[in-house]
Amino acid sequence: MTAPTATAPGNLFIVAAPSGAGKSSLIRALLERHNDGSMQVSVSCTTRAPRPGEQDGVHYHFLSVERFQAKIDNHEFYEWAKVFDNYYGTSRTVIEETLQQGIDVFLDIDWQGARQVRDAYPAAQSIFIVPPSLAELEQRLRTRGQDSDAVIQQRMAKAQAEMSHYHEFDYLLVNDEFSATLANFEHIVMARRHRMPLQQARHAAKLKDLLANDG
Ligand code: 5GP
Repeated sequence: MTAPTATAPGNLFIVAAPSGAGKSSLIRALLERHNDGSMQVSVSCTTRAPRPGEQDGVHYHFLSVERFQAKIDNHEFYEWAKVFDNYYGTSRTVIEETLQQGIDVFLDIDWQGARQVRDAYPAAQSIFIVPPSLAELEQRLRTRGQDSDAVIQQRMAKAQAEMSHYHEFDYLLVNDEFSATLANFEHIVMARRHRMPLQQARHAAKLKDLLANDG
């Protein structure tokens, strides 16, 4: 695997959470606050069927199992995993090209994908988001749709399975109050952007001027 180098000018952020923790809303809100082209969310491939309102190429690239398998065979995925009953994967070229352009990339992926990305690209920063309580999570899952109690209980079990991997991540956000969580999410991203090697490269001319001794 040709991973982007640790010095790629863009930052790679892995964001994982159980369904209902608010992950997609937080990523969307952060991207709306920084709509200057400096950050992007990666659009994954999946074999699951689109949900009402989901658009191909926007929310996911919806593929047949055969096409997904062909991409696995051609090593086109940066990471891929079977999440419960469906396959999900992140395209390699998009990630590599975007980071090389100096654009930060967010991967909205599960814990299995997070492990693969960490191994391939240790400079990636990983963030795990949890809901404030199980009661609140259940409430959020119930207000989402008209699922039966059995389906809700299944989703709760899946959520707990995902949450059991929280300690593998670099950062933990408890999404109690949305705007406070968003602010903390933004602080993590901004701190990463201001690390010395990136700032040195970005402001090379300015730093040279500042240190010139003829002024
Ligand atoms: P959903 O079907 O609800 O959109 O997503 C189910 C789970 O699959 C979520 O935890 C989501 O983060 C994860 N997921 C989405 N895209 C990818 C991907 O490209 N790779 C991996 N490993 N997981 C993904």
